[in-house]
Amino acid sequence: MVFLSTIGGCRTNNMEKQFENFLSRHVAQVEPLFTQSSEAWWSASTSGRKEDYQHLKTIRLEIRQIYRNAEEFAFLKKVKDTGQIKDPLLARQLDRLYRSYLKNQIPPDLSEKLISLDAQIAEKYNTFRGTIDGKRVTNSDIHRILTTETDSSRREAAWRASKQVGEVVVGDLLQLVRFRNQAARQLGFDNYHTLSLEIGEQNVKELDEIFRELEEQTREPFRRLKQELDGVLAQTYALTPGELMPWHYHDPFFQRLPLVFQLDLDRIYEKYDVKELARAYYAGIELPVDDVLARSDLYEREGKNPHAFSQDADRCGKVRVLCNLDNNERWMETVLHELGHAVYSKYHQSDLPYLLRTPAHSFTTEAVAMFFGRLSRNAEWMRQMLNLPESDYQKIRQVSDKYTCYQQILFSRWAMVMYYFEKQLYADPDRDLNALWWDLIENYQLLRRPNGPLDAGWASKLHFVQAPCYYHNYMLGELLASQLHHAIVHRVLKLDSDRNVGYVGDPRVGSYLRQNVLAPADRFHWNEMIRRATGEHLATQYFVRQFIP
Ligand SMILES: [Zn+2]
Repeated sequence: MVFLSTIGGCRTNNMEKQFENFLSRHVAQVEPLFTQSSEAWWSASTSGRKEDYQHLKTIRLEIRQIYRNAEEFAFLKKVKDTGQIKDPLLARQLDRLYRSYLKNQIPPDLSEKLISLDAQIAEKYNTFRGTIDGKRVTNSDIHRILTTETDSSRREAAWRASKQVGEVVVGDLLQLVRFRNQAARQLGFDNYHTLSLEIGEQNVKELDEIFRELEEQTREPFRRLKQELDGVLAQTYALTPGELMPWHYHDPFFQRLPLVFQLDLDRIYEKYDVKELARAYYAGIELPVDDVLARSDLYEREGKNPHAFSQDADRCGKVRVLCNLDNNERWMETVLHELGHAVYSKYHQSDLPYLLRTPAHSFTTEAVAMFFGRLSRNAEWMRQMLNLPESDYQKIRQVSDKYTCYQQILFSRWAMVMYYFEKQLYADPDRDLNALWWDLIENYQLLRRPNGPLDAGWASKLHFVQAPCYYHNYMLGELLASQLHHAIVHRVLKLDSDRNVGYVGDPRVGSYLRQNVLAPADRFHWNEMIRRATGEHLATQYFVRQFIP
C-alpha cells in the first residue's frame, strides 16, 4: 500500500519535474524577448520612426517562432492529457502555455496565406474612399454629414458611402474566413470561431447563455429608449418615426447614441488639468500611480501614436501609459481608463510566476479600465473632484446619467448583432450573409432594412478582419465593470444603493480591487477570479440594474 502510493507520488513528481524544467527553460527564453518587444513597441509608438517599427516586427516574429514549435506543443499536450500536474500554479501555467502554443500551430503555408490576405485587405481599407454622387469623400466628411445634415437623401448617400468598402473587400474577407476555418479544422475544431474562444478560455455555450439573458433583460428597455429617440430624431428631420431609416441615426452602425441627449462636459474639464485629477484620484483610493505617470508619455507630439494605451514593460513594475492629453471629457475618461489598465498590471502579486503576472483575461483588464473610465461622467465623482456648483451638479446628474444609461443599453444591442453574426459567419460562410446581417439588425437594433438588393456593407466593419471573434469581450468588460461596481457598493461600502457613489477618497475601493482582482493576476481562470471577487460567476443582472432604472 505504502509502496504503491510512493510510486504514484513519484510518477506525478516526475511529470511535474519534467514540466518544471520545460517551464524554466521556456521563461528564460521568452522573458527577455517580451521585454525587448515592449521596449521596441514603446519607442516605435513614441517616435513614429520606421526602423523602430521594423525592429518591433522582427522581435514579434522571433517570439512567434518559439510558439510555433510543434514538438514542444506535442509535449505540452501530452503533459496536459496525463492530468498529472496537480500543483495549482503549475497547472495554471500549463494551461496558459498550451493555449499560447495552440494559437500558433497553424501550418506554415496556411499561415502565410492568412498573413498576406490580411495585409491585402488592410491595404484596400486604407486606400479606399467612398463616393457621393461620384465624388470621393473622407471619413470625416461622412461623419459631418451623418451628425449635422437634415436632408434625408444626402444622409442616405453618406451612409451608403460609409459602407461601400464592404463590397470591395468582401471577397477577400470570405476567403480569409475559409482559410481561418481550414486552419481551425486542422487543429481539431469545428471552425475558427470555436478555436478562438477556446484560446481565450471561453466557449459558445456560456457566451450564448450570457447574450440570451442580456437580450431578454434589455429588449423592453431598449424598445422604449428607441421610441423616445425616434420621436426626437423624426422631429429634427421633419419625418414621422415610421419613416426613419438606418441613415438617420448619426452612427453608421448605430453603435453610439445620436447626439441628442448630450451635455457638453468639456466646458467643465477645460478649467482643470486632467492628469493631475487622475493622479489625485488614484492616490485617494490608495492605488497611487505617481510612478506610472512619471515614466509615461502623456502629451501630443509630431510622429507619436495619436491614440492611448497602457503597457506593462517587464511584469516587474515598469508600467506606463501613452496618451495625448487635452483638458476635456474624452481625455479625462481616457486617462482614467488607461490608468485602470496600469493599476491592474502594477499591483499583481509580485511572487507569482512570470507567466501568470498578466491579467486573467483581456476583458477583465478592460473591465477595470471601464470601471474607472466611467467616472468622468459620474456626477457624484465630478462634484467631489471638481467642487462643482450645485446647479451644474443637478444638470449633469439628469442629463449625463441618462446619456450613459442609453449609451450602454444601445451598445449592448449592437454587441448582440456582432456576436451572433460572427458566430454564424464562421459556422457557414456560404449562407446569405447580407440577409443574415439585416435579420439581426432588425431583431436586435430595431432598425429597418433599406429597400432594394442588400449589399455587403457589414464587411466595412474592420473588426472582422483585424480582431476576429473578439467583439463580445467589449460587452463582457462592461458586464464585469458593473458587477464590480455592485460588489463594491453593497459588499464593501455596505450601502443600499449606488445613488451618491463617486468612489472618491475611499481607500476601501482600492484595497478591495487590489486584493480580489489585481493581485491574483492570471492565477485563476477569469470566471473563478470573478466568483472569488464578487461571490458569483460573471452575470448580466448588475449591468442591467446599473443602467436600466
Ligand atoms: Zn482599454
